[in-house]
Amino acid sequence: MRKPFIAGNWKMNKTVAEARQLVSELVPGLEAVDGVDKVLCPPFTTLLAVAALLEGTNIGLGAQNMHWELSGAYTGEVSPSMVAEYCHYVIIGHSERRQLFNESNATVNSKLQAALAHGLIPIVCVGETLEEYESGRTKDIVSNQLIQGFRGIEGIKELESPDAFVIAYEPVWAIGTGKPSTASGAAAVVREVIRPALKRLYGDNVSKTTRVLYGGSVNARNSGEFFTESEIDGALVGGASIKANDFIQIVQAAAR
Ligand code: PEP
Repeated sequence: MRKPFIAGNWKMNKTVAEARQLVSELVPGLEAVDGVDKVLCPPFTTLLAVAALLEGTNIGLGAQNMHWELSGAYTGEVSPSMVAEYCHYVIIGHSERRQLFNESNATVNSKLQAALAHGLIPIVCVGETLEEYESGRTKDIVSNQLIQGFRGIEGIKELESPDAFVIAYEPVWAIGTGKPSTASGAAAVVREVIRPALKRLYGDNVSKTTRVLYGGSVNARNSGEFFTESEIDGALVGGASIKANDFIQIVQAAAR
């Protein structure tokens, strides 16, 4: 049995005051739900404030991105050790990073190595664009993202831990569009593409025990459909994660 996992990607939203307000609305509802790993991924500037509010709760904290180098002349970037001061998790390879900031599978690979080396649990995003989907290339694109993203990363095999990393399948055409994948379509990609790629990389056990989330226009109304699919272990939620009631309802649905 894989423990359900729900992460909220706040993207570039919320000042410190707004973040404090949202967290104070989220904490009572989220804390009351057992049996689900819950993670908030707010902007860097709010991590300190949010970390303080989450201390002593059962809610985890993640960053939305990081650089792979430890320090140096990388203006505007944040290093793995800086992230690890506040967070247990970090989102790597989100499609907005890939598309708007030209992150390649090689970039994802460097970030993944750095995250794992600093004890962070990466939430690794993969997914095809609309054009790739329509031309029937989902399998090639998603397997390639995983095989190249994890190239040369051996550590996980030794760890053999179901918590070493989390995968989020996020078809780009479903992110922020209000047009989610069907639950059965997303489950098919997890079953036929993602778990076989994980098996190729790290063997049967890692393939079976790693949590694989769906992301893309998940909301309080449709989340339950995804969670009835046995292949889908939770969700990476964007827009609905900054609406307290909606996010709490999604976490409650994952617990059922
Ligand atoms: C995301 O940012 O990862 C995401 C899935 O966004 P949304 O839920 O808004 O589609």
